[in-house]
This record gives sequence, C-alpha cells and structure tokens, in this order.
Amino acid sequence: MIEFGSIINGKQVKTGEWIDIYNPYTKKQVGRVASIDTKTLDKVLTDTKNTKINLTRYERYDILNKIANALEERVDEVSKMITDETGLCLKDTRYEASRVSDVLRFSAMKALDDDSQVFPCDVSKNGKPRRIYTTRVPLGLISCITPFNHPMNQVVHKIAPAIATNNTVVLKPSEKTPLSAYYFAQLALDCGLPPNMLNVINGADVQATAEMMTIHPEITMVSFTGGSKVGKIIASKAGYKKLVLELGGSSALLVLEDADIDEAVEVTMSGTFKNSAQRCTAIRRILVHESIADDYAAKLTARVEALKYGDPYDAENDMGTVITEESAKEMQLRVQDAIDNGAVLLAGHKRDGALYAPTVLDHVQNAHEVVAKETFGPVAPIIRFKTLDEAIDIANDTPYGLSGGVVSNHWPSIQRVITELDTGTVNVNEAPSYRLEWTPFGGVKDSGLGYKEGVIETMKGYTYVKTYSLPWD
Ligand code: NAD
Repeated sequence: MIEFGSIINGKQVKTGEWIDIYNPYTKKQVGRVASIDTKTLDKVLTDTKNTKINLTRYERYDILNKIANALEERVDEVSKMITDETGLCLKDTRYEASRVSDVLRFSAMKALDDDSQVFPCDVSKNGKPRRIYTTRVPLGLISCITPFNHPMNQVVHKIAPAIATNNTVVLKPSEKTPLSAYYFAQLALDCGLPPNMLNVINGADVQATAEMMTIHPEITMVSFTGGSKVGKIIASKAGYKKLVLELGGSSALLVLEDADIDEAVEVTMSGTFKNSAQRCTAIRRILVHESIADDYAAKLTARVEALKYGDPYDAENDMGTVITEESAKEMQLRVQDAIDNGAVLLAGHKRDGALYAPTVLDHVQNAHEVVAKETFGPVAPIIRFKTLDEAIDIANDTPYGLSGGVVSNHWPSIQRVITELDTGTVNVNEAPSYRLEWTPFGGVKDSGLGYKEGVIETMKGYTYVKTYSLPWD
C-alpha cells in the first residue's frame, strides 16, 4: 500500500487522519494520504505565500529535467500507481507517464527563454529618447485544484510551468486519485525543488478544503481543472483573484459525406476510448453524414467489439474501468434512456462493477441525455445528419466549447467547420483531443473562460508583465 503525508515545507506531515484510496477494479485499498484541517491549511497557504523563490533560469531548467529523468527511470512504478488509483489500463497509464515527461521537458526548455520585449520611444512626435523594457514577474501563491482523470498529467500541467516561472503553489489533487500528485511532489523535492515551492494537501472535509483553496486572501490566482459545475462555484466565490478554469467538454467529430470511412473509424477509435473515455476532449458525439452512416457504423462496431477491456493490470488490455461503480451505473442509465427513446444499440452496454463495456449507439438525437450531458465514459453515440449546416448546428448545440474534429478532404467544408465550431480547438482528420503539451489548449462557453493552458500559455498566465524605461539616445 502506498502512503503519503501532506507535503508541507519540504516534509511529509502525517496527522493520523487519512483519506483511503481504493482500486475501482479490485475494490482493494491501494493507498492513503494524510488529511489536514482548514486551520493547518490556512497556515500552509500563508507560509507558502511568504516564501520567495529566486532560482535562476538554469536552476529551474535543471530541476525540471532532473524530475523528468527520474520519472523516466520509474515508468513501471508510476504507471502501476496510476492504474492502482484510477483503474485505467497500463497502456493508458504508461502513455500518461510519457506525457508528463513532455510537460517537464517543454517547461525546462521554456524556462531558459528570455521573454522580455524592448520598445524604442523615439517613434512618435510624443516620443522621447528612451526605451521601455518588459519583464515577467511571478504572481506569487497559486492555488491549484485538479480532477481525477489523468491524475499525474493534470497536476504536472499546473506545477511544471509554476516551477519554470519561480512561483509557489499549494495543490489540492482530487481526493479520488491523489497518490500521483504526492508521489510527484516527493520526487521533485528529491530532485532539488526548494521547500514550500510546492505543497500538496487534501482534507477529509473536501468542501471546506476546496472552499479555502478558493477564497483564502493570500491566494493570487486559482487554477482549476474539473467539471463545469464546480468551475462555476469557484468563479462565484473566488472574488478579486486571477482565475483559470479548464472545464468539461462534449467534443463532436464531424464525418462528412466525402470522408474516407476507414480513416474516420481510425480517428474515432483514437479519440473516444483512450483513458476509458475519461478525457475532457474525448469524442462524445459522432456526427455522420447519412449517406455513409451505415458503412461507418458497421466498421466502427467491428473495431469496438475487438477492443480488449477488463483487468487494468493486464498489459494486453485496451481499456480498464471508469473511476467508480456509481459513474459506470450512471452511464448505463443514460445509454438505456437513449435506447428507450429511439437510439439503436450496436455494441457494449454491459456493466460489471466499475467496468463498462465500450459501447456504440446509432440513431442518437442531440437531445438524448447521453449526449446532452457530459457522459464521462466509453460511449460512442452516432448522430446522423443530412447537410453540413445541420451538422454544424448540432455540433454547436451544447453548453460546451472545448474541442472538435472533422474528417473530410473537401477544403471548403473543412474551412467552414474550423471557422464555425464554437470551440477552442478543431482538428482536421484527427481526434479532437490531439495536442502537444506546450501548444495552447482550452475551451469557451461552459468549457472555460477562453484562457489557454499548455506549458507556454500557462507560464504567461502565471506571470504579470512589468515595464521599466531607461533614457536611451
Ligand atoms: P470535479 O469538478 O468533480 O472535481 C475536480 C476538483 O474540484 C477535485 O479536486 C475536487 O475535490 C474539487 N472540488 C470539489 N468541489 C469543489 C468546490 N466546491 N470548490 C472547489 N473545488 C472543488 O471533476 P472530476 O470529476 O474530478 O473530473 C472530471 C471533470 O473534469 C470532467 O467534467 C472533465 O471534462 C473535466 N476535465 C477538464 C479538463 C480540461 O482541461 N478542460 C481536463 C480534465 C478534466
């Protein structure tokens, strides 16, 4: 069993009160993390705020690369631990570990950049013989709150850019999957991260802990990734603080009339079922032109039926469990509701505890609950359309605006989809989830406020621009 104390000021602090973590497949306890109360959290936040970090660019680069090296030496241990706490299969968790390395290495590279600008002032009749320079200043204490899916990658997307910019962080990982965050923080300390640059806490009273992580006066910025419901609660409470919200999604993949059906099926497979479809950018709606929908549905069904799912520790499996049995039961109910209201089941829809079979539904309507709400699991719902206008209307008929995709080789149609989807990302002949860890990433509408994450944008977001000017002939 893996056990971590709260990471406070470079040490693990154990209070005797624990949050227990269970594997969703075996239902056995796999670990526990210490719980702290809000009085202790109040002090942690104040002490972290009062800690000033002055690492050189090279020192930040060096620490980030050392953590990446250490992590790469421990991929087996790390992926097994993520599987322990999530029930995700080893194929998925090994991939997550490699993404974490990318985040660290990109942050290390960007830490070396000189991000200042110079403006000559003798360029206007109102000018003077001066120059104005910019420099980026760390914000100070950043409160980070992360979700259960991708428990290490979500965390490192918040932490690595903070290290790269000399900020301090208090992190509250999901109480469902906290082990990865503590493991990462301890590894970072072992690699030379200064104490109090990153503290990691959880409280058994989740609501009180989360509220303090949102409203505490010493916090300069709240960086949250999670569901839209909680994101909006945070927005209503955070007050005069910088806020980045990365929220839920309902990505549509548009398969147009001219699409290569095999390519469309390939894109669907890579964009839907990875990570047990517990990705904010997973394809939640497949919009297929009616003229090719029968062929597409048959080929997709054959591929889905060939997926191996089950024991997440079996390295041959393509899919493990979802996060909890309750979550699996909820998606089962929503799929049943769609079937009861006219959708046609083509594959899956079997549940065993937290295991839910990869499921394909055809003839889904955009109003069916299974797509109208974010169904965070392995369901591939096909919605048939007649015209591109109709497809774009359906794709946008959702509160979410995270990402989307289109499979086609007809440029005028592709260009319309890129222009007209109300989303932060559109990928052509590629899954909506495709990104690199340092490219801008984030959504609009109920998926976020339009601020981007990804290493480069997060580093900008964690700093403010100070200008200074000097006399200069
Ligand atoms: P969640 O919103 O239930 O929880 C996320 C975090 O918020 C957890 O740490 C939780 O303890 C905390 N929290 C709970 N109540 C809170 C409150 N009142 N105030 C502040 N924090 C509170 O999300 P989840 O179920 O862990 O994760 C799945 C969701 O995250 C999905 O909706 C998914 O789309 C979204 N997500 C979004 C992105 C993105 O980048 N846009 C990435 C991953 C996941």
